[in-house]
Formats: sequence, structure tokens, C-alpha cells
Amino acid sequence: MEKCDVVVVGGGISGMAFAWKAAQSGREVLLLERSDRLGGCLHSHRLDDGFWFEMGAHTTYNSYSGLLEIAAATGATDNLIPRGPARAQFGLLHRGEYSWLTPPRLLLKFSWIGILFSFPFGILRGKEKKTMSEYYGGLLGRGNYERFLRPFLAAVPSQSADGFPAAGPGSLFKKRTRREEYPRSFGFEGGLQSVCEKAAGTANLTVKRGVEVEGILPGAEGFTVKASGGSEYKADVVSVAAPLPAAISLLRDDFSALAATLGEVETVDIESVGVVLPREKCWMPEIAFLVPTDDIFWSAVTRDPFPDLERRAFAFHFKPGHSREEKLRRMAEILKVDAGELEGAVEKRLSIPAPARGHGELIAKIDVGLSSVPWRLALTGNYFQGLAIEDCIQRSFEECARVLSPEIS
Ligand SMILES: Cc1cc2nc3c(=O)[nH]c(=O)nc-3n(C[C@H](O)[C@H](O)[C@H](O)COP(=O)(O)OP(=O)(O)OC[C@H]3O[C@@H](n4cnc5c(N)ncnc54)[C@H](O)[C@@H]3O)c2cc1C
Repeated sequence: MEKCDVVVVGGGISGMAFAWKAAQSGREVLLLERSDRLGGCLHSHRLDDGFWFEMGAHTTYNSYSGLLEIAAATGATDNLIPRGPARAQFGLLHRGEYSWLTPPRLLLKFSWIGILFSFPFGILRGKEKKTMSEYYGGLLGRGNYERFLRPFLAAVPSQSADGFPAAGPGSLFKKRTRREEYPRSFGFEGGLQSVCEKAAGTANLTVKRGVEVEGILPGAEGFTVKASGGSEYKADVVSVAAPLPAAISLLRDDFSALAATLGEVETVDIESVGVVLPREKCWMPEIAFLVPTDDIFWSAVTRDPFPDLERRAFAFHFKPGHSREEKLRRMAEILKVDAGELEGAVEKRLSIPAPARGHGELIAKIDVGLSSVPWRLALTGNYFQGLAIEDCIQRSFEECARVLSPEIS
């Protein structure tokens, strides 16, 4: 049986951030990832000749200080590329009509009478304890919210954002300090996944791919982690950085109260389909994304902010419950190509959290349960502070500091 100081379950950005921080502190860290690919939702699909596009997360900002800290320390910033002009162009599909917009042009579509009446009261009422729909509807007027803002907000978490908390844990937008020495929004050559791949090369960190953790057993001398293929690992610290449903199932037997509290966080499924097309077959202007007001998909995200001379790529994020044929048919209609052009389309299915009002209280309850566990067990992921990459990283850094603290015995 192998022994190490820390075992991390999951090689998405949450697990990698935790593993990187723990390895920096000199601990011997083992990260186990179920898939053959590192990155989880940072999923940069790559063709044999190196062309890539994002099937999952696509945008990072210079306010993501934790991501930049990891990227700078691992050399990933050498391959940092600013997002080009298409980042500020987007499409709105409403009742079969396409509008090509920039943020100022979107503002011109709003009813200003609605804003004049609503804004002063909306601002005074503030965000605290409000849902997105209550806060932004109150700020811009209900009509403006429903006609224009709602589809854009839903495109961010690929689900209705109406019930998300407007502020605090689980909220979509947070004020963070920008690192002005980096471009405002950027990606990396090879895609965002390359940050996780670079971090895997950190000293003191061993990464095993294609290994699924099946059980976490607490004992008198720390943990025994059971994994696929009958492998077992001993560690003083375990950090569970798997998606919420997987975390619940790993904790159900030995940490049942904690697992039950985690079960109170709702999740939704997203089905993504990505395709690469020759540039000459694409009719749309270069845009960062297309958002429909009412359709079977939440958004279609492009690679246009990193333009390629010959090809363009589109990742459609669908509502669950549609067949592959239905999805490809709708993509062919939107892209105005024959369905045969989409044969090479790649698919991905994910479950992501749907935070609601009271998410902060729920997280506090999880943390109380976690701190009363008499082992060094850490929990991190996108179901704590929020879905954003930086929310995941900050949670991981905080959890790492907590469980490695000498005060926990
Ligand atoms: C379509 C989409 C677009 C997004 N766009 C953005 C964006 O533009 N900007 C932004 O900031 N955020 C974005 N996000 C959110 C962000 O990407 C995610 O919330 C974040 O990457 C989640 O990271 P994670 O490590 O917590 O989970 P995951 O990325 O899901 O990683 C968990 C990992 O655990 C592994 N795993 C699961 N079970 C086991 C097991 N039993 N044993 C071992 N390994 C296991 C999985 O294979 C996976 O690799 C987007 C998310 C999606 C889905």
C-alpha cells in the first residue's frame, strides 16, 4: 500500500489548486483523477494538429488572482494569450431573428423608462438575500430583465439563473481585485486545461490518471483510500474535489451526516456538443457567444476570441433530455450547414450545482459538519463559493490552509 501525506480526489481545477498548494508547503501529495484527461470542466478539446477549442469553461479574467498565481508558478503564463476583439461581440437569437450586439448596443435595446422607474429603488434595496431575478428585475424593470438580461444570465451557468443568490456564496459575480499587469481577459495556448496539466508537474506532486476513487475509509492512523483496480493509498489528509454527486457517494458510508447536508445543494445536468468547421462554411460574424431567448440550448460559445485563419469552433450547451439527433439538427439549423458537416461533433455530459437563496447558510452548515470530523478531511469544489474557476481555487486554498494547520490534531 502506498503512503503519502495528502490524497486529492479529482483533477479538475479545485483538486489541482488544492494539490498545488499542499505540494508547495512541502507535503508529499498524490492526486487521483478518474479520467485519462486532467481539467474536469476545463476541457480543451484538441485536434491532432493542435487546433483546440473549449468544451467547458472558456473565459478567465485578470481578477482571477489564484489562477494567475498557479499559472505564473507553473510556467503556464508563458503561454497566456489575450482574448481578441470578438470577446466583446455577441449574438442574441429572438424568435428566429439574430441581433449582433456589443454591451452598449444591448443597453440601447432596454426600455429606459423601465430603468428610470426601477433603478433608484432597486439600488436602495441592495443585493443581500435577493435572488438574481429579484435584484436585477428590481434594478432594470421586470420587462428589461425578462426580455434581455435573463437569457444572458442563464448562459453563464448553463441553467436558469433566476433563483441564484445575487450576492455572497453561490452568486455569479463577485468583486475581485484585478492584476493589471495581465490582460483583462485571456486564455492559454492549448486551452484552459493546460493550466491543470502544467500544475501536474509540480515538485512533491504525483498525479495518477485513469484511477477512480471508490472509498475513503477513516481509521486510527488517518485514511485508507480505495481506488479502481484494487489499489489502496494511506494518507493523513484527504481532499475530496470531485463533483457534488461523486463527493456525496464517496462520503455516504463513513460521513453520512455530512453527505446528507451536501445532498441539500441542488444540481442540474448540462449536455455540451462541440464542432469545428472550415471558416468558409460559417455565416455568422465573429462573436464570443450566441444566446437564444427560448431554445433547447442555453448558449453557443465560439473560439472566435482566439481567431484561427482556417477554422472556427462552436460549443453548444444544451438543456438536458434531447437526443443527439435533435441536438445536431438544431446546431445545423443555427450554423446553416448540412447535418453531415457535424458528424465529427464531440459530446460531454456534466452535472453542476444550482445554488439557491440560502446557499451561504447551507455552506456554513457543511463547514460546521466538516470541522467536527475528527480527521483531516477537506472538501472543495464549485458548490461552495460559486461556479467560477476562481471561486473553486479560493475554496481550495482556504481548505488547504485549514486541514494542514498544526492546530488540527
Ligand atoms: C460549460 C461550462 C462553462 C463554464 N464556463 C466558465 C467560464 O467561462 N469561466 C469560469 O470561471 N467558470 C466557468 N465554468 C465553471 C467552472 O469551469 C467549473 O465550476 C470548475 O471548473 C469546476 O472545477 P472542479 O474542479 O470543482 O470540478 P470538475 O471540473 O468537475 O473536476 C472534478 C474532477 O473530479 C474527477 N472525478 C470525479 N469523480 C472521481 C472519483 N471518484 N475519483 C477520481 N476522480 C474523480 C472528474 O473526472 C473531474 O476531472 C463553466 C462550467 C461549465 C460546465
